[in-house]
Amino acid sequence: MTYILDGKKVAKKLKDNLKGEIENLKNKYNRVPGLAVVQVGNVAASSIYVNAKTKAAKEVGINVFDHHLQDNIKQKDLIDLIEQLNYNDEVDGILVQLPLPKTFNEQEILDCITPKKDADGFHPINVGKLSISQKNDENLLIPCTPFGCLLLLRELDVSLAGKNAVIIGRSNIVGKPMAQLLLKESCTVTIVHSKTVEIEKICKSADILVAAIGKPELVKEDWVKDGAIIIDVGINRVQINQQKSKIVGDVNFEEVKRKAFAISPVPGGVGPMTIACLLRNTFISCKKKLLV
Ligand code: NAD
Repeated sequence: MTYILDGKKVAKKLKDNLKGEIENLKNKYNRVPGLAVVQVGNVAASSIYVNAKTKAAKEVGINVFDHHLQDNIKQKDLIDLIEQLNYNDEVDGILVQLPLPKTFNEQEILDCITPKKDADGFHPINVGKLSISQKNDENLLIPCTPFGCLLLLRELDVSLAGKNAVIIGRSNIVGKPMAQLLLKESCTVTIVHSKTVEIEKICKSADILVAAIGKPELVKEDWVKDGAIIIDVGINRVQINQQKSKIVGDVNFEEVKRKAFAISPVPGGVGPMTIACLLRNTFISCKKKLLV
């Protein structure tokens, strides 16, 4: 029987643990972690993500500082806000919801967040630390989605060392950091992407296949080896009819489930883990500050 990697369940466990740890911090230091959530404009999908992150943060006892800005603000205004948050003692994590409107230089904005408060783990310093550290150190600020994928894999109680891992997608927020994490778990890692030749053949060699593409149900049964572990990162809204739509992943779940040893569903797989890992990063930043 195929093992379904239930992200909601694993994320709940993570959040319950965090809640306890935050309670301990509060008792010991009279301080709880603070997360500043910055959203520019009113893209519906971004608002859904921001609401979900805010709700989850409050549930575990993190203070949320909400900064919802009009999309006509200037790059400099946003940089000024980030500078203020960098110096605000009550803020331990800063999250700028992506994508920003096209008029912004996203990387310049992300670079302004002090690495110590980089809740998403996207700052070049944290990207560098992830790349050069020998282990997947629990105290690094690691991009939330790939770390969530790794925690899902760890649920399986299967040794990752020596496994062939294939990652579809080479983005800075998922594909590349996922490769770093799996490399440190001693997997043999291959990244494939939109220009890869014979992609199905390479995917079929994977013991672990991570799909982070953004193309609904692109990965079919014949891309997958018998007994593979499949992590589906994709979030794609598809129209069922004129009125209704639904969310699907990058993997054709029903087909691939028949061959896989384990598979994460969409929704309810990687998504909840991403949020839990964001809370974890905020907690780590706070703890590090209190312990110096
Ligand atoms: P991206 O657009 O930045 O990168 C997509 C990657 O897929 C690119 O590297 C591209 O080369 C590759 N690609 C595109 N078409 C391809 C094809 N036909 N064959 C092979 N590779 C192809 O996207 P991203 O930000 O990495 O996100 C990927 C998906 O994951 C999206 O659906 C996104 O919504 C989702 N996502 C989910 C979470 C979560 O929490 N579950 C978090 C982040 C992103």
